[in-house]
Amino acid sequence: MKVPFLDIRAQNASIWSEIDAELRPVLQNAQFVLGPAVESFEAKFAEYIGVKACVGLNNGTSALQMALIACDIGPGDEVITTPHTWISTSWAISYVGARPVFVDIDPRTYTIDPEKVEAAITPRTKAILPVHLYGQAADLTRLSAIAQRHGLRLIEDAAQSHGAVWNGRRVGSIGDIGCFSFYPGKNLGAFGEGGAITTNDEKIGARIRRLRDHAQDGRHHHVEIGFNTRMEGIQGAVLSAKLAHLDNWNAQRREHAERYREQLANIEGLVLPACSRPESHVWHLFVVLVDDREHVSQHLGELGVATGMHYPTPVPQQPPTKIWDINTATFPLRKV
Ligand SMILES: *Cc1c(COP(=O)(O)O)cnc(C)c1O
Repeated sequence: MKVPFLDIRAQNASIWSEIDAELRPVLQNAQFVLGPAVESFEAKFAEYIGVKACVGLNNGTSALQMALIACDIGPGDEVITTPHTWISTSWAISYVGARPVFVDIDPRTYTIDPEKVEAAITPRTKAILPVHLYGQAADLTRLSAIAQRHGLRLIEDAAQSHGAVWNGRRVGSIGDIGCFSFYPGKNLGAFGEGGAITTNDEKIGARIRRLRDHAQDGRHHHVEIGFNTRMEGIQGAVLSAKLAHLDNWNAQRREHAERYREQLANIEGLVLPACSRPESHVWHLFVVLVDDREHVSQHLGELGVATGMHYPTPVPQQPPTKIWDINTATFPLRKV
């Protein structure tokens, strides 16, 4: 038996007729960029997340970038984030000319450690940007309290955690802005690139809606430096079809995680991922800690079980470190 790391074809095949029904009008009416399918998805996703506004974008990296711009974060500003994530979180901070300040993670949950955040705040800090890594919500209660106490924005990188719930609310609805990716391999994946922001702040929503379309405020009238970060009609259609199944798919992921947890319990040298509350984790990935990871991965590969490494090199140890001017006091560099 072969166990692939991810099989998107199987997921698509299970709902092919529903995807087809959503796609057909987009193709027939040639509504390829924005249009009714994107608007319809935005309305459904806003309702699902529990926010006033959702803005469909071209990918999750853009979502983070647009979010930072909409919070007026730019050169000279600092944004507190996690060193342990997909690189996009730091790219976005760099794109707006701000500086990422890395605060170490809680080794049990792999998400930013709220205990250490306050010590990293300076007069230049403008926002906290936690990542709900591998599908698990960061501690939004404590992070929100810190943000409020210091007058900071809270921007959630929810690219790996569509549908996770924190204290009865979905991630992406608790901070000022939620940033989502619909890259094909995410829990909710498009037929290509896709992303969105979610927010209860209608001014922020309206600004990002303008920014994504060349910052037009009426045709051919550009009110600031704009972008082309629009969602495609095809992606809106596919995402609408898939959104109806997300809760069910996440429930299946929880069941599988539970099975892994039972079957992999009490193996010496293997540390299983912590999950404090079942609803706050949607198991984008099931990441274990193990000493000789290359060996384990190779061995599983020989048995037909694919694995991935998330992430082999922490962000502050990537080559652009030099431009990020890292304060190692907030993130002790370790040898990798
Ligand atoms: C995937 C991902 C992104 C970026 O999304 P893209 O759609 O690939 O641009 C950002 N942050 C995290 C944590 C991600 O996993």
